[in-house]
Amino acid sequence: MSKSSNITWHNATITKEDRRAQNGHGSCTLWFTGLSGSGKSTIANAVSNELFRQGINEYVLDGDNIRHGLNKDLGFSEEDRTENIRRIGEVAKLFVDSGQIVTTAFISPFRSDRDNVRALFAEGEFIEVFIDCPLEECERRDPKQLYVKARKGEIKDFTGIDSPYESPGNPEILIRSDLVTVEESVEQVLGYLREKNII
Ligand code: ADP
Repeated sequence: MSKSSNITWHNATITKEDRRAQNGHGSCTLWFTGLSGSGKSTIANAVSNELFRQGINEYVLDGDNIRHGLNKDLGFSEEDRTENIRRIGEVAKLFVDSGQIVTTAFISPFRSDRDNVRALFAEGEFIEVFIDCPLEECERRDPKQLYVKARKGEIKDFTGIDSPYESPGNPEILIRSDLVTVEESVEQVLGYLREKNII
């Protein structure tokens, strides 16, 4: 499938392990997935703030921001959503290679797309964080007024309305964002990272 030949992968002389050792913590991808309005961005940014406060090298890749730049050529067809996620997965992998904790906040509705990203990583580096929130609650919150538009037919292929969301079968972390606070969610994620000796 690759369009480029005659390209070799340069192994950096400084390894991922070297970078982790210098940073004094591990690196991984926290892959947030869930419906629009479930709280991915809110919780991902709160986790990021807390990690930063603790002196940990981290970065957030957020859906809307990436779609303004790297992926501005992509729409919301099934094919484009798949390519969107594939590119983000590759970028996340570079961050992990650089010794950082990268948090991604994308709906990423298709299980196969998420599993393809998981396959890019070594065991334990890909942490799927399912922000589980009933559609009715997401629609009630509707922070960007997108559900209103989708219901009126002004947005096509909207996840949860006229495009499917495939829930993770076995996520590393499951957060019921309709039942717990943002602070409790942050503690749940940080607790997991401590338990796995990543931080
Ligand atoms: P997403 O990134 O999944 O589209 P956002 O984080 O943009 O979702 O929006 C979620 C909205 O729900 C925000 O307005 C946030 O303040 C609100 N909210 C209420 N309770 C929670 C909670 N427990 N966790 C996360 N978000 C919550």
